[in-house]
Amino acid sequence: MSRVIAWFSHGAASAVAAKLAIEKYGDAVEVVYCDTSRDEHPDNLRFRAQVEKWLGKHVTVIAGKYASIEDVADKERYMAGSKGAKCTVEMKKVPRFAFQRVDDIHVFGLTHDEPRRIKNFVANNHDLQCDWILADLGWEKKHCFEYLRSEGVELPAMYALGYRNNNCIGCFKASSPGYWNKIRRDFPEVFARRAEQSRALGVKLVESSHHNRIFLDELSPDAKDHYSRVENISCGPECAPPAPGRTP
Ligand code: SF4
Repeated sequence: MSRVIAWFSHGAASAVAAKLAIEKYGDAVEVVYCDTSRDEHPDNLRFRAQVEKWLGKHVTVIAGKYASIEDVADKERYMAGSKGAKCTVEMKKVPRFAFQRVDDIHVFGLTHDEPRRIKNFVANNHDLQCDWILADLGWEKKHCFEYLRSEGVELPAMYALGYRNNNCIGCFKASSPGYWNKIRRDFPEVFARRAEQSRALGVKLVESSHHNRIFLDELSPDAKDHYSRVENISCGPECAPPAPGRTP
């Protein structure tokens, strides 16, 4: 039988997708994580250990040539722009490409309420055989949260802090004033590093108003979003480029 690769991202949905894949395919499943843990909340290591116990499987950790997203930005002289985020490419796509085989079946943590992301991925990856196990069974993100809680798996700390995704802290793809001011409050040291590095590279990470971008160090601590929800940043397998207008 082909290998079934359940791509675990430290997110709630990818944990549940791995669980459903193991129930469906059994021992053929390998749970794999592309290592961005240095840039994530430290609680993710606790979450991974708890998920391994829950799944009854060790998570294989793979990595590319870069140690962190800051390392990618330093060496590539690029953070995020119209071509997408270089960190996603170097730390998630490149290791996946090296690991995958042509006959693998891929399971990603994209849910029933993310049809656009699935459609984009399929459109750009005709050669991959995917089992959209969550979407096909009607699982939405909220169901994944509820299921993990009901199974006694404590959700990653970033969700409890109010973030919609368990991404790297201070994600390069983020652009909303609300997100960056939240990072400034929750993780001031990360905010300071992002501000310094993005200024040095000439990257205007913040969209202060429609089509107007500013440097992080120009962002007023009082600036708010034009919308009330915390930014939903996709850093999944499809790695959609950020909104047009991003200055590389
Ligand atoms: S979560 Fe954000 S910063 Fe981290 S790899 Fe993905 S795009 Fe880059």
